[in-house]
Amino acid sequence: MLRRMRASRILTARAVVSALPVGPLRSVAVTGVSDERLASLHRQRHAVAAKFVAAYEEPFWRARGLSGLSESEGVLGSTWPQSEGILSALVPPERYGVLLGMPPALRTVELLAEMARLYGEEAHRPLATYLRTWGTDPWTQGYVTHWTPGDVMAVGPRHGTHEPPFYVCGSDQWVAGYMEGAVRTGRAAAKEALTRG
Ligand SMILES: Cc1cc2nc3c(=O)[nH]c(=O)nc-3n(C[C@H](O)[C@H](O)[C@H](O)COP(=O)(O)OP(=O)(O)OC[C@H]3O[C@@H](n4cnc5c(N)ncnc54)[C@H](O)[C@@H]3O)c2cc1C
Repeated sequence: MLRRMRASRILTARAVVSALPVGPLRSVAVTGVSDERLASLHRQRHAVAAKFVAAYEEPFWRARGLSGLSESEGVLGSTWPQSEGILSALVPPERYGVLLGMPPALRTVELLAEMARLYGEEAHRPLATYLRTWGTDPWTQGYVTHWTPGDVMAVGPRHGTHEPPFYVCGSDQWVAGYMEGAVRTGRAAAKEALTRG
């Protein structure tokens, strides 16, 4: 019988900066910071969503006077033109389970059928499609940070702050997720770590 040895390495540093989304961070054992800090970080949640993209030769929907923007009651919650001939769509959290319930081989077919109901039969004939189930991606576990009533007070004033030498950044540590949050908190955490060590 072969026994597989797990390689382990110990790295030492004067400061630790966590840039992990809150979901994956819950799976990392963190010691040496206060219980209140960990409770605050672990209390945050993510919107469990998926993104679907279909690329077409041309924006065929425009010929029908349609912009490509929609809010829908299907599995696709919304669509928008991402670029010339490209439609993007989000599957919102409350419909994510329906998406996962679709046999994988049928997912693209069924999502294109939704596009076709909105924009016409040409939707069935994309050049390429891409479906990314962000909500169950182990490295993000979601789409953007999600605040439900009670979360702001429960996460509390430690949100987006540091406990040197432990620093946090990433869009979950900003007010509302998104790229702006990732960049702003990253720069701020770097500045703090360089100043306070
Ligand atoms: C479908 C979709 C559409 C979006 N649209 C927009 C938009 O239009 N505008 C906008 O501003 N924002 C948008 N966002 C949100 C934006 O992409 C995120 O808020 C931003 O990318 C988060 O950046 P981040 O650096 O905080 O985290 P991430 O980019 O998620 O980076 C975290 C990193 O940590 C890594 N990681 C996780 N666990 C571990 C571990 N245990 N060890 C090592 N590494 C680990 C991950 O692999 C990842 O690389 C969208 C997001 C999605 C999913």
